[in-house]
Amino acid sequence: MKPIALPDSPYLLLTPGPLTTTASIKHKMMADACTWDDDYNNVVQQIRARLVRLATPQSGYTSVLMQGSGTASVESVIGSVIPGQGKLVVVANGVYGQRIAQIASYLRIPHHLLDAGETAGPDLAALEQLLASDPAITHVAVVHCETTTGMLNPIEAVGKIVKDAGKIFIVDAMSSFGGIEMDMDQLQIDFLISSANKCIQGVPGFGFIIAKRSRMEEIKGRARSLSLDLYDQWKCMEEHNGKWRFTSPTHVVRAFAQALNELDAEGGIAARAGRYRNNHRVLVNGMRRLGFQTLLRGSQMSPIITSFYSPAHPDYRFQRFYSLLKQRGFVIYPGKVSNADCFRIGNIGNIHPADIERLLAAIGQSCYWEHKASTVAATGT
Ligand SMILES: *Cc1c(COP(=O)(O)O)cnc(C)c1O
Repeated sequence: MKPIALPDSPYLLLTPGPLTTTASIKHKMMADACTWDDDYNNVVQQIRARLVRLATPQSGYTSVLMQGSGTASVESVIGSVIPGQGKLVVVANGVYGQRIAQIASYLRIPHHLLDAGETAGPDLAALEQLLASDPAITHVAVVHCETTTGMLNPIEAVGKIVKDAGKIFIVDAMSSFGGIEMDMDQLQIDFLISSANKCIQGVPGFGFIIAKRSRMEEIKGRARSLSLDLYDQWKCMEEHNGKWRFTSPTHVVRAFAQALNELDAEGGIAARAGRYRNNHRVLVNGMRRLGFQTLLRGSQMSPIITSFYSPAHPDYRFQRFYSLLKQRGFVIYPGKVSNADCFRIGNIGNIHPADIERLLAAIGQSCYWEHKASTVAATGT
């Protein structure tokens, strides 16, 4: 049979997952694999070991892969690690933090929600007080990069408070792991959660959890769901050379192994983080030149995704702006902040500063509310 060429992508995804992936990653999905064959399970084992090495140089850590979108992995952790008598604190400042509290509500896990709103950092003094005042608390969860706004949360400071109080620390590092340098041992993270289609630049289909081995040993029998039982999934992978309990996303897994190769080839997380920072810098400077303002101050922003205020002009409509950009080969993200009108642009994926320069030119041509109708007439919208 003749090899089939990959279809052309109609646009670059400037969304933080799924994101623009390389042709070589997509190509890896064009073969089928058997879920109980050693060759496939060896790929899984290598992925697990490599994830641990990316998370920390220290020993004593392990990883588990879990089917589903990133939220399934968050739900797996929340539902599997907190004992029947346990209590969770969720430190939130956006949709993804609130989602952790929502998961706890669904699972009827007692919890406190410390919500700072969407444009402020976590209230560390309030966290310290809460931990001191309620001895029933066992676990604290926080989001690292809050993708709602692009805010980077101070997980080092949060972790110190959590550990001084002797609690277990859970971090949703979904949109930062692989794109921002961190050592989970130094940050005292017990359970770190991320997924295939964020900064490792794979395709969607599974998430992963990196945890202290000793913590994993403690959680047997706590799960509130069969298919999201973190301990059981881990035990199966440990005892059966990387075997998943139920059908694994084989194509996605093979693509992810290639994505890890490409992360190494780029120079590891430090080099990737440098590229993302460059993308972000070029984007923010260029957007400011075009008259756009960022939602967050410089020190709050992550190099992952950036929120910009929508133009105040009465003729501006996100949908029209989006369509004009899509016709020019770029897809951006609507805003997710409840109290400010914004749109978002992601910097992650197989995106380079030259792509951002082209994007800026396209945005300059798509500001239809500023231009005479003729300059954007070609669009037909
Ligand atoms: C992407 C993301 C998730 C998971 O979202 P899914 O749509 O379930 O993949 C969770 N938390 C954060 C911070 C994210 O960016």
